[in-house]
Amino acid sequence: MKSLPAFAVCTLVACALGDAAVAAPAPAASNLLATYEDLHSHPELSHHEQRTAGIVARELRAAGYAVTERVGRYPDGSSAYGVVGVLKNGPGKTLLIRADMDALPIVEETGVPYASHVHAKNAAGQDVGVMHACGHDVHTSVLIGTARALAAARDRWHGTVMLVAQPSEETIDGAKAMIADHLYERFGRPDAIIGLHDTNLLPAGTVGIVGGPAQASSTSIDVLIRGIGGHGSAPQVGLDPVTMAAYYVTQIQSIVSREEDPRDPSVVTVGSIHGGTKRNIIPDEVKLELTTRSFTEKSRRTIIDGLTRMAQGLSVSAGLPPDKAAVVTVLDQESTPVEYNDPELSAKLHDVFVATFGADRVMPVERSMGSEDVGVLGMSPDLSRQEIPVAYFRLGAMDPQKLAAAQAAGKFLPGPHTSRFLPLPEPTLDTGVTAMTAAATAILH
Ligand SMILES: [Zn+2]
Ligand SMILES: [Zn+2]
Repeated sequence: MKSLPAFAVCTLVACALGDAAVAAPAPAASNLLATYEDLHSHPELSHHEQRTAGIVARELRAAGYAVTERVGRYPDGSSAYGVVGVLKNGPGKTLLIRADMDALPIVEETGVPYASHVHAKNAAGQDVGVMHACGHDVHTSVLIGTARALAAARDRWHGTVMLVAQPSEETIDGAKAMIADHLYERFGRPDAIIGLHDTNLLPAGTVGIVGGPAQASSTSIDVLIRGIGGHGSAPQVGLDPVTMAAYYVTQIQSIVSREEDPRDPSVVTVGSIHGGTKRNIIPDEVKLELTTRSFTEKSRRTIIDGLTRMAQGLSVSAGLPPDKAAVVTVLDQESTPVEYNDPELSAKLHDVFVATFGADRVMPVERSMGSEDVGVLGMSPDLSRQEIPVAYFRLGAMDPQKLAAAQAAGKFLPGPHTSRFLPLPEPTLDTGVTAMTAAATAILH
């Protein structure tokens, strides 16, 4: 069945937006819709969420939370724009509520009045459009709305609420950066973690949650295919890496179709391929950026082994010397394990949602091949095991009439990571805040 991922993670593009390009935060907006539209029209790429983090910090402080900014440290020593807001309300459990803040290098084509016109330079120095094409502006707005709702409803819960506005989900290194900056040593260890992601597969006004392995692991892999460059008119003199790359891109699709167990789904995607400078020059090398998805370590290993073996075979069959062999590099920092929804906590949230919204607004959902680093917040530091229960639910975000019309025609509405992904703001935000607040008060009863 053809399907669009409800969640997709761009782990291939590391982009840079200079801090000098960051505009001053807008005046305080008590209206959540205004906050959302402001965030939507001012998206920031991963690692550069300065303005967004400033707005979150300001709004959480205004709601009465103890706020700490610049929480998070990347492996290169730079600090991240993570924000932590803590509200203590007597003895009891600690609940972590997480939202992600970063946007994507996409030129927005929704045409809405609050559309982004932001451009920035990516890490390679290229000019890219920037868009909240994954709806993290929805998540950030819901976090702010939930902060206010929980502060106003202190008679309905007790314990500690720890709100985490996380940077760099799209590059899959934001949660790791916050853990590396001693998140729990500084702010306390939570007893449970909840979060949400919007989806183009459900109408606004609905939610859904699936227990167990909910979102696939993501492994980012670089492949460098080397050859021997030369004049485009004399291919017999060199060894053309562009031709080799073309073979490779198609050959590696047989890993999933011929080597993996069909009962254990996996994905291999080449999202970026670059080589050469001019049509009549055979280049020396071609660079490929891949993302792979799996639900088991066996499946993940099969992909890595297959990619490595086929790259080696490619160079051998081309007659290249060993020092020109293709190089396969697994990027651990840009990879993330399976997001595991604790069955008991997920069942609890499901029941809370049914009680809050009615059964007809709690939709069945399936596990997704998209990836998420929210699970990292609940895992051991070496990412080998789950230590804190996590429940990550989905928030319907589409105009119900448009979604029904698309489904009747056998089509999908534009999904996350596309230029026309368009959440319907008000009912999506209202439902997100209501669902998150209900879940939090039920956990902190
Ligand atoms: Zn995304
Ligand atoms: Zn996302």
